[in-house]
Amino acid sequence: MDLYEYQGKQYFARFGIPTSRGGVADSVDDAVAQADAAGYPVVVKAQVKVGGRGKAGGIKLAGDADEVRAHAAAILGMDIKGHVVRRLWIEHASDIAAEYYASFTLDRLAKLHLGMLSATGGVEIEQVAEDNPGAIARLHIDPVQGLDAAAARRWVDEAGLDHKAREQAAELLVALYRCYVEGDCDLAEVNPLILTTDGRVHALDAKVTLDDNAAFRHPDWAEYAATETEDPREKMAKEKGLNYIGLEGSVGIIANGAGLAMSTCDVVNQVGGQPANFLDIGGGANADVMSAALEVINADPHVRAIFVNIFGGITRVDEVAKGVIEALGRVDLRAPIVLRLDGTNAEEGRALLIPHLSDRLIAEETMMAAARRAVALANQTGAHDASEERA
Ligand code: GDP
Ligand code: MN
Repeated sequence: MDLYEYQGKQYFARFGIPTSRGGVADSVDDAVAQADAAGYPVVVKAQVKVGGRGKAGGIKLAGDADEVRAHAAAILGMDIKGHVVRRLWIEHASDIAAEYYASFTLDRLAKLHLGMLSATGGVEIEQVAEDNPGAIARLHIDPVQGLDAAAARRWVDEAGLDHKAREQAAELLVALYRCYVEGDCDLAEVNPLILTTDGRVHALDAKVTLDDNAAFRHPDWAEYAATETEDPREKMAKEKGLNYIGLEGSVGIIANGAGLAMSTCDVVNQVGGQPANFLDIGGGANADVMSAALEVINADPHVRAIFVNIFGGITRVDEVAKGVIEALGRVDLRAPIVLRLDGTNAEEGRALLIPHLSDRLIAEETMMAAARRAVALANQTGAHDASEERA
């Protein structure tokens, strides 16, 4: 679960990570009250779970109450990359001398935690990594050893932070590491981590992803879950008990089994398409499950073709075929379906489908052929690239 910046900063505060004084506002009047409390000048910040808010106009400096009023009115309701701003964070503005980058995440390949620190912050770290990979000091941390003050000091030296920032930065990084480990984060990122003109180091932004698998240890996380604005597609899928993850493309995917669903996403990519979702319908691919799956995919306006990829094991393909046929009678689909059915009772399943095949329901022999067909259909009926439209 991703946290909003203000929640991330509140989380940071529990571990003693310094941030700017501020408060949350849901209206223009609230914003002015929070600005009065924080002290001018202030920064008015859109609370959306997406990066690049600054560039999108979602972060504005305000010198007085009138400016707060104007910026708050403009930012509330603003659409930032598909996220509508419903809440603001107002904080006392900092005078910035330098902007750094710091984060902790898990390096699955190395089986170690990975800290990244750069004296070049405030910008897209992906861009820094591409243009000047040497500018990021990477530190692998053994979870048993942890990160102590001495190691943190060597790390800030290596990253080349300004000398007067080093001691405070090292201390902050130890606290951020504790937040990451004890706070059960998948990601704890500060961009920018700043040095102020009066020589203080603190977190100007907060990006925290909590590890949902650790939720049982943190009853207080319920408060974050309550403010979570889910992808409406994922919400609908959850209500129907489906294992669904929304993606950016135009090819809807239904498969039985998580492994096959992932492979299906891969082959769609491989033949030049983009999956609109991951959807594993599990073992029981009966008409109810199939209708639910088709309904969820049908509700996504970006879907231009649906690829149903079933490998019958315990699930018998003739049962799946019956499910598909019955579901088609219930759901009025906008996009054509490409079916690939294989495995137990595949022949029987295909035979059942023959009378129903049309240019809206197409059967292919292999997974690759079906992927190609689905991608061709998605590209043909799509007048424009769905992923661009969504971005
Ligand atoms: P993001 O664009 O979503 O990552 O939002 P950030 O919170 O990182 O803010 C983007 C940029 O706005 C920062 O890199 C700063 O340059 C600027 N900014 C944010 N807060 C302040 C502030 O208190 N003072 C000043 N001078 N600039 C700020
Ligand atoms: Mn940022």
